Order: sequence, then C-alpha cells, then structure tokens
Amino acid sequence: MNRIPFIAGNWKMYKTGPEAVETAERLVTLCADVENVEVMIAPTFLSLPLITPCVKGTCVKTGAQNLYFEKEGAFTGEVSAEMIRATGSEYVIIGHSERRQYFGETDANVCKKLKSSIHAGLKPILCIGETEIERNEEKTFQILDKQVSDGLKSFGSDELKDLILAYEPVWAIGTGKTANINQVEEVHQYLRALVGRLFSMDFACRIRILYGGSVKPENIRELMNIKDVDGALVGGASLDPEKFIKIIKYYL
Ligand code: PEP
Repeated sequence: MNRIPFIAGNWKMYKTGPEAVETAERLVTLCADVENVEVMIAPTFLSLPLITPCVKGTCVKTGAQNLYFEKEGAFTGEVSAEMIRATGSEYVIIGHSERRQYFGETDANVCKKLKSSIHAGLKPILCIGETEIERNEEKTFQILDKQVSDGLKSFGSDELKDLILAYEPVWAIGTGKTANINQVEEVHQYLRALVGRLFSMDFACRIRILYGGSVKPENIRELMNIKDVDGALVGGASLDPEKFIKIIKYYL
C-alpha cells in the first residue's frame, strides 16, 4: 500500500501572529522542491487565518491543535471545527497528550471531537501514547488499545478515511528521549493490527501512522525506515524552519 509520508509540525503555544507568518513563508520557500511528502503546520488558533493564505497552493497545509466538539453556542473561549474549516485549514490535532495531561481531555471527549471534525470536513490527527509509568508497568498496549477503541467508538471506516494516527509516547515528548527503533516498530505494528481488528486490514493498511516524541534531523531517517512509520509529528524541532526542512527532506 502506497502511503504518502506526512510530516506535521505542532507549534504549541509559541509564536505571535507576525512570527508565525514569517516562519510559514520561510518554510514554503524551503519546501519548493519537496518531493512526495505532505507537510502540515499547526500554529495557535490566532495565527491559523494568517498563515493559511501564505501556504495556499503549496505542499504545506495547516491545521489546528485542538477544537471544541459543539458547532456553536455559549462556550466561552472555545473554537469549533466549522470555525477552523472556515479559515481554509484542513487538519486538526485531537487528543494530544498535553491536552490529556493539563486540560483533562478524555477518550470520550476525543471521540466527540473526532465526530465534529469529520462532520466539518477536517482531517483529524488522533494522538495516543503511554506515560513512562504505564510503560514501566507493561501497560503500553492496554493503554493504546483503550485510547484507540474508545476514541474511534461508533465510527465506520468510511467516515475515517482521512484519519491519521500519531503514536506519541508521553515520556518522549519534549524530553529529548526518543523511543528506540524496536519500541517504535513494535507499537506501530501493533496499532495497524489493532485498527485492522476494529475495522478491516484493508482500511488499516490505508491509514497513516505517525511517530512523535523528540523527532529531530538526526533521528528522522532511521524512524522513517521503520516499516509501519508513515511520518512524524514534530514539536520543538518544527519551530525553526531550517531545522524542520531537514526533517521534511529526510529522504536526501
Ligand atoms: C509534540 O508536541 O507532539 C511533540 C512530539 O513534541 P517534541 O517533538 O518537542 O517532542
């Protein structure tokens, strides 16, 4: 199955509007000769309508880092999938571990957010991953099983055709510790088989599974060489376009 590699940058709560525009413009220039890789950057909500026009017609797409599942209403401080879509943005990250850890995001919320994103025509990137304690207690697969099964509960595979999964071990995010090749290989293989059991193997072979957690220019090549790794979700190293382009052009 030919899955186009997908490299996504999560800018978290960094960069003002003008800084985001400058970074996006530089990245577009650097990406001019990128071959066969889809690139996505996720700035803050405020920067989304500013940078989306800057990347239009290029291989760089934009996405939000979160959304609220209601369409509209008295939900102070929240942003809906429709509002994100109206900026021209195509993607949304759902269930990032920082949302789960600091903002009480549950698998039930994740499921509702997935529903509203798909309904609005946004392509969801569902983040899953175990903490260090869970790994040490040998609960990694149990945790992933729950996050995937509960997150994707009640969906049909036709609704999930644009789904991207991102395996991000929590202990590797922003820590400089990358999961080793065997750990990544084992989990990605497990996740594809799990999606295969929940839906079908044909569907599982079509969706992309990204790795995230301290990805940098120095380790992207070996990560991308792993059979079931179809791309990367990059935090810190995506903030600097000169660094990020080395990850995007991992094939050189
Ligand atoms: C992330 O924010 O999803 C992430 C993987 O961060 P970092 O690359 O900085 O570890």
